[in-house]
Amino acid sequence: MDLSYGVENESFRAEVKAFLKEAWKPLDDQGGVLKGPALKAFIKGFRHQAVERGYLYRGIPKRYGGSEQAADVMKAQIIREAFAAARAPMEVSGNGINMLVPTLLDRGEEWQREMFVRPTVEGEFNWAQGYSEPGSGSDLASVRTRAELINGEWVINGSKIWTSQGDRCQYMFALVRTEPEAAKHAGISYLLIDLRQPGVTIRPLRQMTGEAGFSEIFFDNAKTPADWIVGRPGEGWQVSRTTLKHERASIGSADRGVELLGKLVELARKAQRFGRPAIEDREIRQDLAAFEGWVLAQKYTAYRQFSLAADGKEAGIVGLLNKLYTTDIGHEAARIAQELIADEALLMPAIPGPGVRRGDEKWLDQVMGSLGVAIAGGASNIQRNIISERGLGLPRDLALQGE
Ligand SMILES: Cc1cc2nc3c(=O)[nH]c(=O)nc-3n(C[C@H](O)[C@H](O)[C@H](O)COP(=O)(O)OP(=O)(O)OC[C@H]3O[C@@H](n4cnc5c(N)ncnc54)[C@H](O)[C@@H]3O)c2cc1C
Repeated sequence: MDLSYGVENESFRAEVKAFLKEAWKPLDDQGGVLKGPALKAFIKGFRHQAVERGYLYRGIPKRYGGSEQAADVMKAQIIREAFAAARAPMEVSGNGINMLVPTLLDRGEEWQREMFVRPTVEGEFNWAQGYSEPGSGSDLASVRTRAELINGEWVINGSKIWTSQGDRCQYMFALVRTEPEAAKHAGISYLLIDLRQPGVTIRPLRQMTGEAGFSEIFFDNAKTPADWIVGRPGEGWQVSRTTLKHERASIGSADRGVELLGKLVELARKAQRFGRPAIEDREIRQDLAAFEGWVLAQKYTAYRQFSLAADGKEAGIVGLLNKLYTTDIGHEAARIAQELIADEALLMPAIPGPGVRRGDEKWLDQVMGSLGVAIAGGASNIQRNIISERGLGLPRDLALQGE
């Protein structure tokens, strides 16, 4: 196995590193003096330069604010590695850039791309994903929120739930039922909705950590223009598949597992168990060794996936396994951490607040958060169904046959 990148790619890496030293280092040198709007402006300027050099938004055409580079998985990986090492920001994150932009590039009208892509790339438009409803999560095609075309506008009634960052987004891309007479999957449309209007009520939902990362969103005769639809009426299900493909692809990565392993070992050195450092305990050592095995398996599977992509081949079942494996690793890390922290967890705040020591208390967030990650973007059991059907060619879930 040859894990080197080759001379040409190494010279590209040197070029990216030199750029980061020049464009990003000044912020480090200021020792965190920049804050608020000044910091935001610095980051925006840095991203602009990175786009000009062809390092960010490589798959997005220049006319919409991207750098329009030919697909090159080696270069993309080198950029990720160099930016991570310099702790420099990459693209703005969120549903808009991860899900809506690829969907608009694939399926949107030209005017929709012109209107929405650049402000989303620049972080000015924030998007909520309006799919789940009470009773429609895994069985997403059962959505009941209605939209009717009345006098040149869609009039929307119903509600969405578990909308991440819903109270902080101006816009939503939503699946709504527009043809109630049509078969389940054929009656859905993909609408773009401005959330800042009187017909929309947003109620943040408080979680067990104390944070409110989700909202419940109610539509009461809310309106959106007739052409704020991606694809034709009734094509929303196919359009949403484009988006979900990007969501699932963006979740799997080996980096987080490697980081968690390092932090767990550090925690095991500090924590006490039966009057001595926990790392000296046989059971804990076995747990950590097994965990390292999982993480290394994921790391080398990621290399396999990377090699397949570099040869222009599809990742197939390896790619489908990624999400499940990543969330399983998150669970296992949380279980070991819980074992190590033991009763101290009862006294820890779930969210680090002002004056609270950062570090250990993040473990509680890992314990609680790992549950949510296994559900977001499709629950683990649904992912198992996908692996068995699409990856292994097994027959469809009996309960769903005929749908
Ligand atoms: C952190 C987080 C962020 C989220 N963000 C968003 C968001 O921004 N926008 C949005 O629209 N939604 C969001 N969601 C919602 C998420 O998509 C749904 O919670 C998820 O699809 C599961 O749906 P449900 O909660 O209705 O559970 P259900 O569908 O009721 O599932 C309950 C359990 O039954 C199992 N199950 C269901 N059907 C089957 C089957 N056919 N075979 C085997 N097992 C099955 C599931 O695996 C699960 O364990 C988010 C959720 C989380 C946790």
